[in-house]
Amino acid sequence: MPEKSEASHAYIGFIRPFSEDAIAVKVVRALDRDLPVQVDAGRLDVSESDAPPLPFEKLLTRTALPFLVLALEFSDSRRPRTYLVDPPMVPRVSDCEHLRLDKCITVNGVVLPALCVYSGSLLKFTGDRTHVEQVLDQTAIYLAKYLVWLRTRRLYRRTATGIELVRERRTGEQAIAAALQRSNDLFWRGYWPGTCAPSSPAGHLATIRPENECWCWSGKCYGECCRDEDQKRERAVRAAPFVNRLMAAVRSKI
Ligand SMILES: [Zn+2]
Repeated sequence: MPEKSEASHAYIGFIRPFSEDAIAVKVVRALDRDLPVQVDAGRLDVSESDAPPLPFEKLLTRTALPFLVLALEFSDSRRPRTYLVDPPMVPRVSDCEHLRLDKCITVNGVVLPALCVYSGSLLKFTGDRTHVEQVLDQTAIYLAKYLVWLRTRRLYRRTATGIELVRERRTGEQAIAAALQRSNDLFWRGYWPGTCAPSSPAGHLATIRPENECWCWSGKCYGECCRDEDQKRERAVRAAPFVNRLMAAVRSKI
């Protein structure tokens, strides 16, 4: 159990979304089109589908990668959360943008952001299995998408005139931590197949109905939880000068 955590139960174990590269390619084609995939003990597969090939499939190598995942369960109505322990998501080196930085925990001095594995507007819990089992299945899908992000990422630099590509993606490329440490203007951007949860007040308001589960994982309805606050923040963004609105729009995309 992480120190000072309010969680009632903690589970730790390996999730290996792909058993081999050939299956990874099939599954990623389905994920990219938001088609259903089967999850069995954290392993993804898909029945025959006619989803078309994707342009980056040659980069999907070494995909049979195990992830050490921590899941926390809460005795009140809050939803279970999952955290990637190993390989760690290192800030600016291997962290993707789909994280819940508002739900970080500290384990042995290491800060772990929660994985943004689902949104109440996208995943409906069913009654036949526990919430933590369903969140772990969703985490396997999330990790499959993260692996695609890792394999397809390219290095970019922010410049006065915009964004320029520094390194083209290459099969088997490793992150170059030292180069990133030298410049705050360098950042990775990869491909995230399929849907991801909306992450701005405008995105929440557009996609989550008041009776749906709130994005904050309280387990309450959106209309009775964060909707008022989102409306206030959205109104503040609309009233803000153009540059602030632009920055908010950029932030909601990263
Ligand atoms: Zn909420």
